Amino acid sequence: MLTITLKPGKEKSLLRRHPWIFPTAIDRIEGRPDEKNKPGATAVVQSASGQFLARAAVSPKSQIRARVWTFNENEPIDHALIKRRVKQAFAYRAAAVRETDAIRVVFGEADGFPGLVVDWYAGKAGFLVCQFQSAGVEAWKVPIVQALIAESGCPNVYERSDASVREREGLPLVTGVLAGDEPGPETPVTENGVRYAVDIKTGHKTGFYIDQRDNRRLVMEHAAGRDVLNCFCYTGGFSLAALKGGAKSVISIDSSGEALAIGKRNVELNGFDATRAEWWDADVFKTLRTLREQGKSFDLIVLDPPKFANSPDHVDRAARAYKDINLLGFQLLRPGGLLFTYSCSGAISADLFQKIVAGAANDAKVDARILRRLSAGADHPMTTSFPEGEYLKGLMLHKP
Ligand code: SAH
Repeated sequence: MLTITLKPGKEKSLLRRHPWIFPTAIDRIEGRPDEKNKPGATAVVQSASGQFLARAAVSPKSQIRARVWTFNENEPIDHALIKRRVKQAFAYRAAAVRETDAIRVVFGEADGFPGLVVDWYAGKAGFLVCQFQSAGVEAWKVPIVQALIAESGCPNVYERSDASVREREGLPLVTGVLAGDEPGPETPVTENGVRYAVDIKTGHKTGFYIDQRDNRRLVMEHAAGRDVLNCFCYTGGFSLAALKGGAKSVISIDSSGEALAIGKRNVELNGFDATRAEWWDADVFKTLRTLREQGKSFDLIVLDPPKFANSPDHVDRAARAYKDINLLGFQLLRPGGLLFTYSCSGAISADLFQKIVAGAANDAKVDARILRRLSAGADHPMTTSFPEGEYLKGLMLHKP
């Protein structure tokens, strides 16, 4: 058995049920040498005075040296726990998620699986797509996959553990079939009545940005008759929602040609009028400036950029980039227009994001009104003790 003993005072965050243990908090790790170096081995975590705090999975190579499985001394880490948690995760989604067959069924810490993401596309004949991003869940991969199949009734499981965070855990990047069939180039899903093709094997993340579902719906509800500009469109999530909602025209910009090709395909899949949609393979920063120089304007603009701040060290640089695009967004918006703007950087808080956007509005001399504060859908919950889980934040703004 492995035991992690913390330095005096370092038990505080665990007593607040925060699930991460950093090397600086650890006084010593005791156990057999082969166990100590085994990624994902379960350890008992105790305070300097020997009080039980948690059971955690050890990541010998990671800056997050251990991640908590349970704070309950009577809860063993075994197959039954894996099954129980998968069951809970599915039960919660069944109650909370509607009008889609693209669902995040496991979201890391919030579902009791630190470092595990599982997205489920297209029902029982579709695919479960997993990202194992920590040594703990990697060590329990086989029982996790079994539990996912049993709970979903979907026999096809594909692994997309190719996110760079794996390297920080000392884990190799891997992709491939874990069970059942291999996904084809297009797995069609239907979200809020819109069909989208998902490229599970080579698309971003697990193929689709499921987290923006509710926000795409909001855009759908406000798009009628509007000229829409969708920046960082990927496969056209917001663009298709806007077309469904009756947008007059939609220009979608992304720097990925593959993503744009799927976007165009999505227009076909839905039988929408392709002349209402333009797809531009371009850099958003440059294109927004060009549009401004040309005196162009829009009724509804979406800004959903990639994560600009990968860590707290990048917050300043990221803040400048967010401010830049939002300033351009306000300038390109017609009076009465709507701006939907997002940040998926965990290192940028909702408060800071709002300040950045306020600064941009101020520089653009726009008295913008915040109509709504936005976040990820209910299948991306966060826990009260783990604020790091909140990464996606956004604002719906009106330009008078
Ligand atoms: N809104 C999308 C998800 C956006 S992900 C949805 O609902 O599905 C961010 C996208 O930004 C990616 O597709 C990436 O290719 C694109 N991107 C990143 N930097 C860019 C840049 N400078 N100019 C244009 N697109 C960029």
